[in-house]
Amino acid sequence: MKRIGVLTSGGDSPGMNAAVRAVVRTGIYYGLEVYGIERGYKGLITGDVHLLGARSVSGIINQGGTIIYTARCKEFFEPEGRVKAAQTLKEHQIEGLVIIGGDGSYRGALALHAEHGIRCIGLPGTIDNDIGGTDYTIGYDTALNTAMEAIDRIRDTAQSHDRLFYVEVMGRHSGYLAMMSGIAGGAEDILVPETPTDIDQMIEHLRTGMKRGKRSAIIVVAEGDDAGNAYEIASKVAERSEFKDGRVTVIGHLQRGGRPSAFDRVLASRMGLRAVEALMEDETGKMVGISGNNIVLRPLSEAWECRTLFDPKFLRVAHILAT
Ligand code: ADP
Repeated sequence: MKRIGVLTSGGDSPGMNAAVRAVVRTGIYYGLEVYGIERGYKGLITGDVHLLGARSVSGIINQGGTIIYTARCKEFFEPEGRVKAAQTLKEHQIEGLVIIGGDGSYRGALALHAEHGIRCIGLPGTIDNDIGGTDYTIGYDTALNTAMEAIDRIRDTAQSHDRLFYVEVMGRHSGYLAMMSGIAGGAEDILVPETPTDIDQMIEHLRTGMKRGKRSAIIVVAEGDDAGNAYEIASKVAERSEFKDGRVTVIGHLQRGGRPSAFDRVLASRMGLRAVEALMEDETGKMVGISGNNIVLRPLSEAWECRTLFDPKFLRVAHILAT
C-alpha cells in the first residue's frame, strides 16, 4: 500500500484535527502518501482531494473543528454517488481510507467497501459519546468540559439571584453528555431521553430541595428529552407549579468548538496512529476504539449494534448528591 486518504464526516468534534495530524504523520512515518479529502464524502464525489505533508498538519493539534472540513452528503447514500467516490479513489490510486466521524459515516464506509472493495477504518469523532465499540469518542471530553464550565457560570448568577435555571445540553438521542455535565456541575436534576421524564416528580424534587434550604437550582436538560426541550420544560413547570420564573440557557454549538482537551488530543493521537497501522495490516471494515485504556479494533457495525448508553448507576449518583 502506497497511498491512503483521510476524511472527516458528519458532525464535527474537537480533536478531529489531532486525529488528522496523527493519520498524516503516521502515514509519512511508514513511507505512505496521505491524501486529505475535503468535506467528507462530498469531496470524494467531487474529487476534492489533496496530498498532505507533515507540515500541512503543523499547529493543528490544539485547534477545534477540522482543517479538511466536514459535511453531510446526500449523494453518497445512493450507489451512483459511491461509484463516483470509488472513481476518485481509483484516479488517485488511494487504496485505503480513514474515516473520522459517527455511525452514519461508518455505514457509508461499509457500503463503499462492500461495493468497491475500498479498505476502510473508522475513528469515532462525536461529542455525544454514544458510539459502540469504544469507551470514549474523540471530542466528548472537550464538550463535557465546555458544558460543565457553562453550568458553573450559570450557577454564579443563579445563586446571586436565588433563581431556577434550565441549561440545555446537546444530545438529540443520547443523554450521555447531559448526564455527565450535570453530575460534574452539581445539577439539581438531569433530564435525558433514555429515561421517561416526569414533570410532577421533578417539581416535587425542586420543592424538597427548597424545604432543605436550597435557594437556587439548575436543571440540566438534554436537547432530545422526551418531555421537550428546555424552553418547553420550563413552561410546563411554570404552568403546574410555583416555579414560574425559571430562566433558560441553551449552550448549543458552543459545545462543538474550542481547543480540544488533553484527553481528546491524546485519544485522537493514539487512535489515528492505530488506524494507519490497521490499514497496513490489511484490516478493513473496522473501527478503532478505546477499551480499558487499550486501543482496540472492533467491527464498524458495533458502532450502532452496541451503542454506548450511560449506565443507570450514574442517575443514582446524580439523585443522591442533589439532596
Ligand atoms: P455521523 O457520521 O456524525 O453519524 P451522519 O449520520 O450525518 O453523521 O452521516 C454522515 C454522512 O455519511 C452522510 O451525510 C452520508 O453521506 C453518509 N452516510 C450515512 N449513512 C449512510 C448510509 N446508510 N449509506 C451510505 N452513506 C451513509
